[in-house]
Amino acid sequence: MKVALIGLGASGLFCLYGLQKSKHEIHVFDVGVDFSKRIVCPIDSGKISKCPPVPCWPACIPATSGGIFNDYKVITSASPVIGGRLFSLLGQEELQLRLDKVKSLILNASPKPIPEVHPDQQDLDWINSRTVKAGMTYHYQSLIHCGTDNAVEINGNILESIDKSNMKFNWRRKVTSIVRQEGKFVIISEVYRPRKYEALGIREEIFDAIIISVGRGGTKWLSQQEFYQDLQPEPGQVDIGVRVETSKVFTEELDRRFYEPKLYYQTSRHNDTVRNFCSNPGGFVTPENHEEYVLVNGYSKSSEKSENNNFAVLVSKTFTRPFKNPQLYSQHIAKVTNMLAGAGPLVQRLGDLKAGRRTKTLENNMIKPTLEAMPGDISLAYPHRVLEGILEYMEALNKVCDGVSSNHTLLYAPEIKSFPDRIPLTKNMLTKIHNLYIIGDASSWTRSVAHSAVSGILCSEHLTSLYIG
Ligand SMILES: Cc1cc2nc3c(=O)[nH]c(=O)nc-3n(C[C@H](O)[C@H](O)[C@H](O)COP(=O)(O)OP(=O)(O)OC[C@H]3O[C@@H](n4cnc5c(N)ncnc54)[C@H](O)[C@@H]3O)c2cc1C
Repeated sequence: MKVALIGLGASGLFCLYGLQKSKHEIHVFDVGVDFSKRIVCPIDSGKISKCPPVPCWPACIPATSGGIFNDYKVITSASPVIGGRLFSLLGQEELQLRLDKVKSLILNASPKPIPEVHPDQQDLDWINSRTVKAGMTYHYQSLIHCGTDNAVEINGNILESIDKSNMKFNWRRKVTSIVRQEGKFVIISEVYRPRKYEALGIREEIFDAIIISVGRGGTKWLSQQEFYQDLQPEPGQVDIGVRVETSKVFTEELDRRFYEPKLYYQTSRHNDTVRNFCSNPGGFVTPENHEEYVLVNGYSKSSEKSENNNFAVLVSKTFTRPFKNPQLYSQHIAKVTNMLAGAGPLVQRLGDLKAGRRTKTLENNMIKPTLEAMPGDISLAYPHRVLEGILEYMEALNKVCDGVSSNHTLLYAPEIKSFPDRIPLTKNMLTKIHNLYIIGDASSWTRSVAHSAVSGILCSEHLTSLYIG
């Protein structure tokens, strides 16, 4: 079969790995340049401290959820709540089997040894005695932390190792639309951001099967395709919260034992789920440029460390009828926050938020910010219910790591994770449309490198078996 793989991020790469030597003819499309020509974000390499208003090109590809550049903390244990929803599709044993495969591929491709972090019984006793008192739930996870600077080389090495005899690569080619035609798919693509004098190069090609792996950033594009409603999507979840930056002294025992513990909390009044996410001990807070607004995120480097730890605290929200657009809701909150900051993110001392006043300066603050953001008042932009969840969570977390809810702790906003519409899929990542697969974050079943990679492997296994059958 002639197969198109649209998007070569985490899911696409592992899918491609599984499709090497298959009898299919694989055509890869990605808006980005060849992996080897992509560069590490200049913020990561310390060249600049703030995202420029116009994203760097070709390094930073807008409308992706990380592509090959992310912190590359790879979950190695199967869990029903961490990394995505594949557990409910596959069950523990099958998911673990694929996660083991992802781990071994990554470790083999890594330029240097990466230790696996997994808590032992002593660590589990330590955390359980504290979370019980805090009213929190700890979810077990083991992981390997490769770091952003290693991610590029690891992905490059995996791509390099693939036998490409049945593959054709279309770098810097954006798929603008997919149209069904007599049981096949017509792909219309064009050169992404054409240079001066370069023809647009619009192309139409027919394929027997399509694998969509455009990431979270590609979900809007996906929802505009003519077949979208036939996928029978349900509204997704949105997580609204803040990026917390505190002294790494407060969290060091927790970080040493777990690196990134998953601690969940139910709020007392609304029973909302609040969770921590993406912990970066010694890391940095960074802006995340979207076309119409700027969010915050965090990252860490293996080569340089700060005195702080940063992590997200997120309140999860799903909406019921008649409201169907949680993404739009969260984008409004992001835009209002940016508006109050004059553009870009806001930062507020936790003590000021608790006292109901604006932060005017961070000059004498004990915790020095790693991101230059406008001091302000998050409560003017965020719904009360969300703020209540964040404050309750910080108090509970203080029972696990004393000092973390210090007045000096910094909260950056907007930190928002929105999850795409939930698309019904088989466990081979096949949609309700014949020969149309969706893998990775665009499918809504994954939200991590590990689960995205597993979804790619599942799709490749199915496609390969189809041919044999
Ligand atoms: C800053 C940041 C840090 C993160 N850190 C971690 C972490 O430490 N650990 C973790 O597990 N997860 C992390 N994530 C999440 C992780 O990056 C994603 O879950 C994962 O990359 C999803 O893989 P994917 O293949 O679905 O999409 P992506 O990796 O986003 O890949 C999508 C690809 O599709 C291409 N594309 C998009 N649209 C088109 C189009 N129309 N035509 C052609 N090509 C297209 C893009 O160029 C891109 O290469 C992070 C995300 C971000 C943003």
